[in-house]
Amino acid sequence: MPEVPSRCGERSRTKSASKIVVCGAGGFIGGHLIAEFRRQGHHNLRALDIKPKSEWHQCFADVENLVLDLAEKAACYQAVQGADHVYNLAADMGGMGFIENNKALCMLSVLINTHLLMASRDVGVERFFYSSSACVYNAEKQKTPEVTPLREEDAYPALAEDGYGWEKLFSERMCRHFREDFGLQTRVARFHNVYGPFGTYDGGREKAPAAICRKIIHAKVSGKHEIEVWGDGTRTRSFMYIDDCLKGIQAIMESDILEPINLGSSELVTINQLVEIVEVIAGITVKRNYNLSAPQGVNGRNSDNSKIQEYLGWAPDTSLRVGMKKTYEWIYGQMTEGARVKARG
Ligand code: NAD
Repeated sequence: MPEVPSRCGERSRTKSASKIVVCGAGGFIGGHLIAEFRRQGHHNLRALDIKPKSEWHQCFADVENLVLDLAEKAACYQAVQGADHVYNLAADMGGMGFIENNKALCMLSVLINTHLLMASRDVGVERFFYSSSACVYNAEKQKTPEVTPLREEDAYPALAEDGYGWEKLFSERMCRHFREDFGLQTRVARFHNVYGPFGTYDGGREKAPAAICRKIIHAKVSGKHEIEVWGDGTRTRSFMYIDDCLKGIQAIMESDILEPINLGSSELVTINQLVEIVEVIAGITVKRNYNLSAPQGVNGRNSDNSKIQEYLGWAPDTSLRVGMKKTYEWIYGQMTEGARVKARG
């Protein structure tokens, strides 16, 4: 792992011999994090997820892979046994279509983080990373598409996204109090819409970048050049490419940044502009059928990156065009290969 200067000039204490545990490693970001640690030469890795290994987005034979339900307290003790660093990327979540219709399930993820914190405190884990979300921000500050980028303090007074966002806000605070009261070194990043290859692109948990790629690929392959767009296309968001997310996770984990910090791109686009980017990549234009009754989330949301710039001298910087091209190509491969396999079988 490269050394990253921390806020107070302290150097990274991460050693390649450290035991690193990634929870939610069968998922999108957790899978990439394990892959990145392997690339960096870490050998002492443990990957955990509730899904059967056959469903993990990325799974490596030279990693200790465990299938455990981390909502269970005993499973969390097994998960963090012997760990130096724990990354909690496990949550029952998805895009707006999932979180608007599964608020109780989203809130139950509180069990995962709570039990992981308790177990990490008790076995003497050195550092603990929690993946929070821009959904913690006050809805009142996200009412128009021309949104002012959200600063970390905009989470309070609290009016988070119902269900998912409140769980994230609560768990952030739990991390803070475990650090203050028990000395467990917790670090918290608020991710803003992460996208990239090896993620969910269908089935109901996918997010806008992957869903739009899938729809346009389908339009291209089928020759029927029209897609459904959720909302009227004017809502704004920023999207962070997975490589930036991985870099940020590690830098924040190794830093002395104690409070939750934004980890997201500040390149704001409308959903229509996102569709246009994918149209250019695909080489087609599509008729857009706007579904105004689909789940859409807040009107506008962007990341204010002043703090991460100040503390780390860097902020996520992969352009949406570059990241979406890689994402589109991966999904295209999955969909067309899948179709070929189906046709053969
Ligand atoms: P993901 O759904 O791809 O991965 C989460 C993984 O957690 C899944 O593989 C799931 O099976 C696993 N999991 C769920 N319940 C579990 C349990 N009880 N025990 C063990 N594993 C369990 O999601 P992701 O996009 O990789 O997100 C990772 C983290 O980042 C989550 O905490 C998410 O809330 C947060 N986040 C993601 C985004 C984003 O845009 N992807 C944005 C904000 C925050």
